[in-house]
Parts: sequence; C-alpha cells; structure tokens
Amino acid sequence: MVDAKKIKDKVMKAVSQNYRGGSSIPEHRHCRICNTVVSIKADPRLCKDEECIAKHGKGEKNERMMRIMMFVFLGLFALPLLLKVFGI
Ligand SMILES: [Zn+2]
Repeated sequence: MVDAKKIKDKVMKAVSQNYRGGSSIPEHRHCRICNTVVSIKADPRLCKDEECIAKHGKGEKNERMMRIMMFVFLGLFALPLLLKVFGI
C-alpha cells in the first residue's frame, strides 16, 4: 500500500530543499546567443565565449544595416507621398 503521508513528507522535503537560502533561482540573465546563464551585470548580454561575441558583433552590424535600409525605404516611399501632398 502506498503511504501517502510518507510521499507528502518526501515532497515537502524536496520543496523546502529547493527553496533553501531564500529564492531558489537567483536573478540572472542568459547569453542571447547560446542561452548560457551570465551575470546580471553582463552588458551586452553575452557569455565570455568568443563565438558568441563574434556572432553578436555580426548581429549588431546587421541590425544597424537593417535600420539604415528601413530609413532609406521609408524615405523612398515617404518622399513622393510628401511631394504629392504638398503639391511640390
Ligand atoms: Zn554565449
């Protein structure tokens, strides 16, 4: 027969062990490339892996490029529209 009380005791023990020392999960962040836990103060949010740093650098460059492209396209679309609206 299953001893319910024994199981409950075991579960309670496991839970209290998990919560030992206040919060069980300290505040932390994850590397945005490989999701390794990194220091909360890490800025940019990266681990110390060279591959991650390199990948992040590439991503940042792409992001900047995308932003420029967006402005260019916006300008291309907005300019004729503005010219039309103001009848220039
Ligand atoms: Zn990483």
